[in-house]
Parts: sequence; structure tokens; C-alpha cells
Amino acid sequence: MRRKLIVGNWKMYGRLASNRALLEAILAGVRELRGADYAVCVPYPYLAQVQSLLQGSNVAWGAQNLNQYEEGAFTGAVAPGMLTDFGCSYVIIGHSERRGLFHESNEIADAKFTATLKAGMKPIFCVGETLAERESGVTEQVVATQLDAVLSHAGVQTLSNAVIAYEPVWAIGTGKTAAPSQAQTVHAFIRERVAKHDSQVAQSLCILYGGSVKANNAAELFAMPDIDGGLVGGASLVASEFLAICRAGARA
Ligand code: PEP
Repeated sequence: MRRKLIVGNWKMYGRLASNRALLEAILAGVRELRGADYAVCVPYPYLAQVQSLLQGSNVAWGAQNLNQYEEGAFTGAVAPGMLTDFGCSYVIIGHSERRGLFHESNEIADAKFTATLKAGMKPIFCVGETLAERESGVTEQVVATQLDAVLSHAGVQTLSNAVIAYEPVWAIGTGKTAAPSQAQTVHAFIRERVAKHDSQVAQSLCILYGGSVKANNAAELFAMPDIDGGLVGGASLVASEFLAICRAGARA
């Protein structure tokens, strides 16, 4: 039986004062919610704050990106070891905003995936199709290519320490959510593809859904057999919304 995981992706939002208020509300709300796992992935400058507020709690934390190299002359970049210095457990890799706005290829996402694992953190590896790709019927092909970048290079065993997030690009930040059955179809496809390499890894693999998960649709999504929780953007910035999603995860 896989445990549900709910991860907030704060993107480029937050300030010291509002972060504190949000985290204190989340901590108070999930303290007794033992039925699922929770995490927040925050902008780099707030890792120290988040570490000091969340240490010892049932909410883990992580980053939204890293550089694949251990150190070097990479102005503006952040190395994996810098994230472990601040207690990060997770790193979001290959988010569609990184792939699209920052031109990250499958090869770069794969290198970052490996660097995350090597540093002892869990990658949350994002895959998903654009609207044009869905409409032209190539969703599975796109997701397979993104997944295969990791499967063929890092190998299937690495997925025992990783999380996959299926995030249809057309549903991210748009208020349009994939119907639970639509999402379930892709989640099952991902699990089957991994199972072709290793059925045990596939069975225990945590596959999150991301794309406008809200308080009012989380329970339906989490009821699907291959949806193991959510990667939550906008709704993770509002304590009452995020907590309702966490409760849906704990109950599912
Ligand atoms: C995301 O940023 O990964 C995401 C799914 O955003 P939203 O929930 O706002 O669609």
C-alpha cells in the first residue's frame, strides 16, 4: 500500500513574514494528520527559515531546482550539497516551467535527477504534455520520452528513491484540472512503462498528479488507484486550501 504524498511548490512566491504565517498554519493543521506525507519546495533564500520552522515536524522540505555539478564557476547556480546543508529531502526536477522558460532539455533534467540522488535527496521528476500534444494524440509518446530519459540512463532502480509527478502542462496554473479518469490513464501508463523494467519498483513508485489541484478536486483525484498524491502550486500558498488537500490525502 503506497502512502499519499502532498507537496507544495511555492514557485517564486513568498516573503519571510508570509512564509512564517503559512508554515505555522500548515504545521498546526497537519500535526495530527498521520495518514499521509507532506512537503514544501520553496525558493532557495527561504531554505534556512523553512528548516528552522519545520525541523522535527511531519512536514519535509526541498527545493525547486539545482545545478547538476557539485561546484564550480557557475554564477547564480546552486549545487546539490548546498541543498543538503539546509536539510532538503526533495528537489523538483524537470518542471515544465524549467523545461519551457529555461530551456531545460531531457538530457539536463536527467543529469539533475542523477545529481539529486547522488546528494542523497529525492527527485520529484516532472513529466507531462502540452495542450497541442494532447490534442494531436501524442500524450503517451511525450511522457514516455521524458520518462525514458531517466530510465535508459539512470536506470529503473533509481526510481526506488524518486517520485514522478505527472503534470499536464495545460493544467498548470490555469485552473483546468485533468479529469480524474484522464489523469489515471496517464498514471497507469507510467506505472506500466516502469513495470516493463521492474515490476516491484513500479508497484512502490509514488506518482503524483499536478495541475490545478485544489481543495474541491483533491479527493476525487486521490481516489484513483494510480494517483499517489499531488504536486500543488497555487493552492499551496493558501493555508486553508493546502490543508484541505492534505486532509484529502490523509483520508484517501
Ligand atoms: C505546479 O506548479 O507544479 C502546479 C501544478 O501548479 P498549479 O497547482 O498552480 O497548477
